[in-house]
Amino acid sequence: MIGVHVFRRKMCRPRSYFPHVSPSFFTTATLMMDTHTTLDLKELWGRVLTPLQSLLKKSEFLTWFGESVLLSYQGEVLTIGVPSDFYLQNMTKYLPIVQEAAQSTLANEYPVQEVRLCVDATIHKGDKRLVSLQKLTKSIDRLEKRELSGEVTLVEGLTSKLLNPKYSLENFIVGPSSQLAFAACQAVAQRPGTAYNPLFIYGDVGLGKTHLLQAVGNAIHKKDKKKAVVYSTSEKFLNEVVEAVQKRQTDKLRSKYRQIDVLIIDDIQFLANKDQTQIEFFHTFNVLYEARKQIILSSDRPPKELVLLEPRLRSRFESGMIVDVQFPDFETRLAILREKCQERGVMMSHDVLEFIAHNCLHSVRELEGILNQALAQYELVHKIPTIRSIGPILQKLNKNTPLTGYVAQEHTTHAQTEAEVIAHIARYYKVSSEDICGDSRKKEIALPRQIAMYFCKVELGKTYERIGEMFGGRLHTTVMHAVQKIQTLIKKEGSLARDIALLSEELGFTSH
Ligand code: ADP
Ligand code: MG
Repeated sequence: MIGVHVFRRKMCRPRSYFPHVSPSFFTTATLMMDTHTTLDLKELWGRVLTPLQSLLKKSEFLTWFGESVLLSYQGEVLTIGVPSDFYLQNMTKYLPIVQEAAQSTLANEYPVQEVRLCVDATIHKGDKRLVSLQKLTKSIDRLEKRELSGEVTLVEGLTSKLLNPKYSLENFIVGPSSQLAFAACQAVAQRPGTAYNPLFIYGDVGLGKTHLLQAVGNAIHKKDKKKAVVYSTSEKFLNEVVEAVQKRQTDKLRSKYRQIDVLIIDDIQFLANKDQTQIEFFHTFNVLYEARKQIILSSDRPPKELVLLEPRLRSRFESGMIVDVQFPDFETRLAILREKCQERGVMMSHDVLEFIAHNCLHSVRELEGILNQALAQYELVHKIPTIRSIGPILQKLNKNTPLTGYVAQEHTTHAQTEAEVIAHIARYYKVSSEDICGDSRKKEIALPRQIAMYFCKVELGKTYERIGEMFGGRLHTTVMHAVQKIQTLIKKEGSLARDIALLSEELGFTSH
């Protein structure tokens, strides 16, 4: 890493090299270098050690930093003295985090470009230059006393209440579509920070990413209650960064996140385009990574397709283990349904479960949704779920695909195909269907195109790939982006929301 050096100063040779020189020579020499400023090196070093202690295990911190002194701060270089070569060799690996800690705590007051280690054999127990680590480690003790509760309390008021105990590795049903992701999660749960780091899980919505992320977090925390496990979404992280920037407290935010043992960030794709947040995340990522803390991330697509993400951040993500989750096959879907019934303590007939598993074609979340609706029917109106009673629920989801094992009773009157949707939207916006499927990027055409894509996905339930094909052979990521954009615009722009509502009615989608 640039700016980080192991350095052996001649002046700092062990005392045996200078038998005629008194031990205080080294101290004096160092102090002399800084006499032109009234710099309190001990105080300065204490400030750097404060955030550092929370990144390391207590024993590790005390062993290696207990006998370290700050020898000088000159020309933006911090020179740290350690008692022997043995210390020097062992502490080299901490240089990047020392540098980060120094940069974030000393900031503009004492800018640090470089951190050097140097042997100073005069360092001894009771040396006045040593910072008392007793005070510093009190906060570690607090961390170690932390109880397992829904809320994980970290140092400096950082809490994590988002880990939901309902997600575990035990209740995740493994199938061929999730085998690799599951195995990686198991390995990370057993050996956090060493197995695969970072672990990056991607896949479409509702396929179990959050479940897996949370399950790993829960497993690590269960095994070692002292581990500070933080689960956050990229939206939450983004909000925190925005708030910290507004209050000019980015240093505080940095040190908060750097006290973590396991950092889990869900739906990282939402960081795309958020430059400042990406920079903050990049720094936090690096510090945790260098300190061998586990990082687990999820996204709706692989790192290489996160095109709006800074390349250096993308390549960090790519440096670890990347696994995907896909839509489970029929057998796995059936097993998931059984598991969910068992969790809720309900029995459902085998035929009904098979019927649901056969006809649920989009996501596990949808699978659960159907089950929930079936159970609600039962609880509210005591209607035992049957193929007939559940049929309409599935029919709505599958639109124009005939259900397996069920004869639809009513005919739907809404638009059935992409072509119908395209034609209608083209008419509405006074453009042609060819324009919509064509190459023009003009706003008057691009917006109707994105709206048409949105309806094909949300109402017709087509896959991104299929929509891409229908819209002039576009990439599925383009479609994904379009759908997301419209979903965001609906929330933000009243006029667009009205257009969508009107179109939805005209296309016959509003009845459900
Ligand atoms: P994602 O984060 O990928 O959008 P979630 O993790 O939120 O998806 O999953 C949606 C729902 O489906 C959750 O309730 C989750 O427990 C459940 N689920 C997904 N995959 C599985 C699985 N293989 N086994 C058990 N439950 C699953
Ligand atoms: Mg999720």
